[in-house]
Amino acid sequence: MNRVLLTLVAAVAAVAALGYFLAMHTVAGQDFLLSRAISAAGSPSKPPPDGIRVLVCGSAAPLPTPGREQACLAVLTPSHYFIVDAGAGSGNTIGLAGLPGQRLNGVLVTHYHSDHIAAIPTINLMSWVAGRQGPLKVYGPPGVTRIVNGYNEAYALDRQYRTAHHGEDFMPIEFGVLEAVEQPIESVQQLGELTITSFKVDHSPVHPAVGYRFDYKGRSVVITGDTIVTDRLREMVAGADLLFSDALSLPIVKTLEKAAEQRQPRLAKVLSDIQEYHASVTDVAELTRTSGVGMTALYHMVPGPRNALMENIFKREIEDNMLLTEDGMWFTLPIGSDEILVD
Ligand SMILES: [Zn+2]
Ligand SMILES: [Zn+2]
Repeated sequence: MNRVLLTLVAAVAAVAALGYFLAMHTVAGQDFLLSRAISAAGSPSKPPPDGIRVLVCGSAAPLPTPGREQACLAVLTPSHYFIVDAGAGSGNTIGLAGLPGQRLNGVLVTHYHSDHIAAIPTINLMSWVAGRQGPLKVYGPPGVTRIVNGYNEAYALDRQYRTAHHGEDFMPIEFGVLEAVEQPIESVQQLGELTITSFKVDHSPVHPAVGYRFDYKGRSVVITGDTIVTDRLREMVAGADLLFSDALSLPIVKTLEKAAEQRQPRLAKVLSDIQEYHASVTDVAELTRTSGVGMTALYHMVPGPRNALMENIFKREIEDNMLLTEDGMWFTLPIGSDEILVD
């Protein structure tokens, strides 16, 4: 009996393997698999519950990290969609997640280091193609107008090509530009049920530098930008549901610095300089313990962990309600509960 069963299982496995081989290596099979995969990806999914959702569209800093794009978080409610910082490569994660570019309200920038602004033109193009009905607003502290003017000039030819190719009706050229919205460092925006608070952080010698807090129907998310832990940050984090924090691993950075001293002295200098203007994992853990925050997610990780060993070193000092993010990770905070769903 067992032998009959085994023969049957082997026969089924052989047929499945043959089917897979034929599908992958014949024109008809490839076309079938491709169209099935595309229609599965495009089928509507259940709308998320009312609340705040955050996508990690970039969890790394400038040090090169495979599988992680530079700093980016997308914050959505059913009627709002903002992107906080747009580091290099983050448009890729946003595109893969299928975010609704046509209703992108704006990009909020924390400061003007390259790993926070490099993908603004990519994100602008993606949401212009998706059907955004106006220029893309770029919010930030003083300095944002200069960034926006520079990008608008650098991409002037690109806009002409896109409109000429796809048509003025489809991609009106006046919708393809960026619009600077310069805000005071400390400021509050009320957009229906959503409050966005910009607050001062300390990323010296980089000035200005801000973080953002989002409050929506009783749920709250704080994003530090790049900073050390300050009293103002503590005030903003106090009692919040979810904190996304800059985090530098001193054990890793110090070891990298020591290794670079002989062969790469320029890299060693940079690794030494950066230790002073990012929050260490130790400091973020202390902030988490003392602030009453529900959960802390490390995202602008310096350096972005490349493997389990580096992850474990980051995790040495973290609390039970802290985690290391990955690109593509979603956080959902439904209203009327304390829940934070991570997937
Ligand atoms: Zn940065
Ligand atoms: Zn920075």
